[in-house]
Amino acid sequence: MANVVIIGAGGVGNVVAHKCAQVPEVFENITLASRTIGKCERIRDAVKERTGRTIDIAEVDADDVAATTALLERVRPDLVINVALPYQDLTIMDACLNAGVHYLDTANYEPRDEAKFEYKWQWAYRERFEQAGLMALLGSGFDPGVTNVFCAYARDHLFETIDTIDILDCNGGDHGKPFATNFNPEINIREITQPGRYWENGQWIEIAPMSVSREFDFPGVGERKAYVLYHEELESLVLHIPGLKRIRFWMTFGEQYLTHLNVLQNVGMTSIEPIDLGNGVSIAPIEFLKKVLPDPGSLAEGYTGKTSIGCLVQGTIDGQPAARFIYNVCDHEACYREVGSQAVSYTTGVPAMIGAKMMLEQKWFQPGVWHMEQFDALPFLDDLNRYGLPWQVMELEPGSFE
Ligand code: NDP
Repeated sequence: MANVVIIGAGGVGNVVAHKCAQVPEVFENITLASRTIGKCERIRDAVKERTGRTIDIAEVDADDVAATTALLERVRPDLVINVALPYQDLTIMDACLNAGVHYLDTANYEPRDEAKFEYKWQWAYRERFEQAGLMALLGSGFDPGVTNVFCAYARDHLFETIDTIDILDCNGGDHGKPFATNFNPEINIREITQPGRYWENGQWIEIAPMSVSREFDFPGVGERKAYVLYHEELESLVLHIPGLKRIRFWMTFGEQYLTHLNVLQNVGMTSIEPIDLGNGVSIAPIEFLKKVLPDPGSLAEGYTGKTSIGCLVQGTIDGQPAARFIYNVCDHEACYREVGSQAVSYTTGVPAMIGAKMMLEQKWFQPGVWHMEQFDALPFLDDLNRYGLPWQVMELEPGSFE
């Protein structure tokens, strides 16, 4: 039985704390640490009410390696589940190395001053984790995360050869607000205002933001327009799916969302360049925007509809051309009833708990820095069914999605 520290008490941290508390046979001691102690207190009280379990809480600034190391040396956890922001990945990895603790996250490191979405900074920790006998599991959310595991399942258990993968992400839910983001607004807007990028025949192809779109009939949701974006799991999947000819990532957006986003971009509110307000005060417009937009956690109550996310894989099965969509449908209202969160936080927090469980049970264990698709998909997929994210495989006409 294990002792874990969860860092980050936002929408995802709330789900991870609840889900770990639901599995006492693995997660014996749980500490939730974050920058604002009041948020940890609220989650601790909610977990107690829903599961009867008491979790510890702590205040920490995870940008501060010494403070984070001191927390880990005091609590002596087996594993840190990092669900703070991507900016903290490296400082938390440093603290894990200092204190001899395994590490897991759900989003790749981003420097604050450039939206880059590259794994190179975290890959640079490989040798140090290997030498310390420690494991770091990167991207154990839904996308990245479950999508990587679906690809591993297709590679190892469904297809003989894989030609193309299209990861399709749809939030068909309605939170009733004119404009809001479903996870941290700063991270979300940085991601979707970047140029799109996909990989074809061994090279990356860059496109203007939101310039390629098409309709897809999402199970559980219906027809929705999806746009090609760059997404971080593409970078590791191209290395680990042999024979792959093309991989793209698609996300759906409604007209209202895109109209608001266009206006915000046109007036400069999505910029990450700090502007000087005088009197020694400066702020990046996107950080200010984050402060005025609804907190993603606050969207949960009254959120209706479903998310539908999966991998459309095309290749051969039994020597014949084949196409399969491997997916999960998740209901916002059901998530709220279970843990007080909306489905975007839920679909991230559940895989974070399961990834941690895989490591602690040593079903997935190898010192170094690893991606989800480098391990056996089956035990993880069994746990998805068990812990709230059942998955399915749908047969499609080969060539129907080009
Ligand atoms: P939130 O903004 O709701 O929560 C982030 C939490 O981290 C807040 O409690 C925040 O504290 C805390 N935090 C920020 N900076 C620090 C710091 N320096 N030290 C300690 N704590 C800090 O975000 P979400 O919960 O929506 O997202 C969490 C993570 O999950 C993000 O990295 C996001 O990119 C990732 N994600 C991954 C997905 C996937 O499928 N792979 C999908 C969705 C999200 P405070 O309240 O004080 O600001």
